[in-house]
Amino acid sequence: MNILIIGAGFAGSVVARELAEAGHQILAVDRREHIAGNAFDVKDQHGILIHQYGPHIFHTNSERIFNYLSKYTEWYQYEHRVRGVVDGKEYPFPINRDTLNQLYDLDLTEEQASEYFEKVREPKEKVLTSEDVVLNSVGRDLYEKFFLNYTKKQWGLDPSKLKAGVAARIPTRTNTDDRYFTDTYQAMPLHGYTVMFENILDHPNIKIQLSTEFTDILKSNLIFDHIVYTGPIDAFYEFKFGHLPYRSLRFEHEHLSSQEWYQSVGTVNYPNNYEYTRITEFKHLTGQMHSSTSIVREYPTADGDPYYPIPRDENEVLFKKYKALADAEERVTFVGRLAEYRYYNMDQVVGAALNAADKILVRK
Ligand code: FAD
Ligand code: UDP
Repeated sequence: MNILIIGAGFAGSVVARELAEAGHQILAVDRREHIAGNAFDVKDQHGILIHQYGPHIFHTNSERIFNYLSKYTEWYQYEHRVRGVVDGKEYPFPINRDTLNQLYDLDLTEEQASEYFEKVREPKEKVLTSEDVVLNSVGRDLYEKFFLNYTKKQWGLDPSKLKAGVAARIPTRTNTDDRYFTDTYQAMPLHGYTVMFENILDHPNIKIQLSTEFTDILKSNLIFDHIVYTGPIDAFYEFKFGHLPYRSLRFEHEHLSSQEWYQSVGTVNYPNNYEYTRITEFKHLTGQMHSSTSIVREYPTADGDPYYPIPRDENEVLFKKYKALADAEERVTFVGRLAEYRYYNMDQVVGAALNAADKILVRK
């Protein structure tokens, strides 16, 4: 079969490789001038490897997905750590026992920390929203200090307007574990994401065309037996039911030439100050040694490239209308964070892409 793949991020590249291995001919196109989608990394003009579209830290509990990517990259072992700044001081985040002890000048044991949360939490019968999640686990003061304003800034919405799953990404801990993730596998591609994608796409049956719009291909005379679409689903259908909201970010990259390090950990979150949500210093993530350093600030915006689907019931209703059309397509597969309107992490996209490729292979 001749297969057209729209988008060379995780979804498109993994499907491309799987179908190419099965003997099909693939044309993968992306409107950007590079592969790797939002995981794209590149050396800046000072030689520091940066993530152009914000910090990407790989983590998964799936041995299958880790082994799959391990065919295309070696790894640098890295466990992400984050601090949240409240009233000018940095605290471990996600909230753990040290956060409580430092913030309230306490000396709680693990059991006492558990009792503390029990005392301050506002129990919810039904945990439906992101506000419910946080109040239900850590109560109002910690909610207001660490979550309320960050969430408003990130999404332009009050946490009560967002589904529970958004804030539920962040655990609460009674121990002193200050890692952002606790997944079994946590590592960064040793030579970067872009090199890993070059390896995934390096197959004689895969042709790549960059700086190319889906519509450019449709206008050509090329005939395809199947299309795999990984862009925003509403755009595929020319917004016939209206626009699905996606949240965007503006990335402000900065190089600091006269200092080796900027901050103590990979990412520092600023819930209550500034227009940006967080600052990431890349050398922490990549292990790169360099005499100077590069950072990125993330400014959430309503307009711009679509980065985040916005998990709300009303958006889900609109998505379902598009999904009904997508499900009825015989010759088009929709997969990935934008096409499935799911707040997927990278490993989840790899899993979805492997399943999508299997389905296409069974059907043909
Ligand atoms: P994308 O990477 O968006 O790829 C889709 C591609 O399709 C794009 O390159 C786009 O240019 C192309 N395209 C779209 N429409 C068209 C068209 N009409 N014509 C041609 N090309 C088109 N996940 C983690 O696991 N860990 C993290 O730490 C993490 N951090 C993140 C930080 C930020 C700031 C963001 C935004 C996301 C983060 N993610 C993280 C999520 C991760 O980026 C996604 O899960 C993953 O990259 C999605 O892959 P995808 O292929 O579905 O989509
Ligand atoms: N969050 C917050 N304060 C923080 C960090 C996260 O309120 O300091 C909330 C916020 O709503 C955010 C969500 O938790 O959108 C998920 O955070 P995560 O770090 O997983 O977001 P991502 O890396 O996907 O942008």
